[in-house]
Amino acid sequence: MTEIEQRMAELERLGLQRRLRMVSGPQGPRVLLDGKPVLLLCSNNYLGLADHPRVREAAADAAMRWGVGAGASRLVSGTMTIHRRLEERLATFERSEACVLFGSGYLANLGVIGALAGPGDVIFSDELNHASIIDGCRASRARVLVYRHADAEHLQWHLTRAPRDGRRLIVTDSVFSMDGDVAPLADIAELAEAYQACLVVDEAHATGALGPGGRGAVAQAGIEDQVDVLIGTLSKALGSYGAYACASETMTRYLINCARSLIFSTAPPPPAVAGALAALGLLEERPHRVERLNWAARTLREALAREGFALGASELHIIPLVVGDERTAVRMCHEAVEHGVFAQAIRPPTVPQGTSRLRLTVMASHTERELRRAAQVLARAARNQKLDLSLTARGPNAAGQGERAAEPARELQPNQPFDLEREESMAHAA
Ligand code: PMP
Repeated sequence: MTEIEQRMAELERLGLQRRLRMVSGPQGPRVLLDGKPVLLLCSNNYLGLADHPRVREAAADAAMRWGVGAGASRLVSGTMTIHRRLEERLATFERSEACVLFGSGYLANLGVIGALAGPGDVIFSDELNHASIIDGCRASRARVLVYRHADAEHLQWHLTRAPRDGRRLIVTDSVFSMDGDVAPLADIAELAEAYQACLVVDEAHATGALGPGGRGAVAQAGIEDQVDVLIGTLSKALGSYGAYACASETMTRYLINCARSLIFSTAPPPPAVAGALAALGLLEERPHRVERLNWAARTLREALAREGFALGASELHIIPLVVGDERTAVRMCHEAVEHGVFAQAIRPPTVPQGTSRLRLTVMASHTERELRRAAQVLARAARNQKLDLSLTARGPNAAGQGERAAEPARELQPNQPFDLEREESMAHAA
């Protein structure tokens, strides 16, 4: 057996092996999954714009007009008129002075964090931040202090003790990708100001999903002026591919000069940029899509609760059904697919050990009937796995949020340096 084969056998033994499932046709609310018709309940195409006729047309027209590839990085010859147009539109949408596009959300986090922190600096990072933030922290070679999830007090505790020389950077998801809850942004912004830290907020799952006109959690919290860099992605509610950073004029010029993932990677393809422009237009023209998404989230949450599932406090479009064990999550996923509902099983390292889950995401284009039926299918699948539905809010092994906040710092010892293995087990990837 080669080392690779051994590693794969080990993943299988642990119930952690992954495989690619094939979707035929566009990413609509219903898809053909490995040839079988299913309700799609795990896509980030929240507003159903990825296959909207206007978005498709815009991408197709752009391919005819500008070609498919950008040909070079932004700083060589890859910046085209269409990039500039989307940057201006996004800056206006986010009420920001300026905006700069990146190849993807992953690249944006890698580039922005690396530009704002390096050796000798300190980064303060939520323990459930997305893998791209974790990797950005790692690549920066700054010291990383991980604070307990959504715990502003613990963040402050770290801030008061961290060395004052060097730069300080606080980085957080706004809506957490695997839990669907929202960071205490107003408190974090206040701390950033009090402790002279730069604040970066990743709105990947918030843009188009909440806040006034779908402008995200930062706008909802009214802290636009206190965020130094707002990162958004074009790949979720905006139905395309690519990402952006909104910031001051000076900051964006700095990022263009110092963000390595922008400097050393090809500019986003014109059809993807044009598709996102059309999607943004649709969001601005018809913000009721956001309300419809919120309605779908409420409908599914109510239906699940009626079936007996315990759900967390969040009301958003990401609904985790935490089952705990890896294999149970996979079996539950398989059974739901058999009955026409596709909700992917999410296991470590995407989520912490013992909190494997089905991460449900609704789309604005789901119907009430579909969502109610999905809840029934999921409840039957859970019961067949002998699951206690009343524990699915945070899982059988996970403590409730209140208890966690009161716990001593556990692995997070005072000024604990960056722990790569621990981060590995926490790394998220939607
Ligand atoms: N940030 C968060 C919070 C995410 O969930 C994701 C994707 N799952 C990303 C960044 C990466 O975005 P992209 O898919 O555009 O690379």
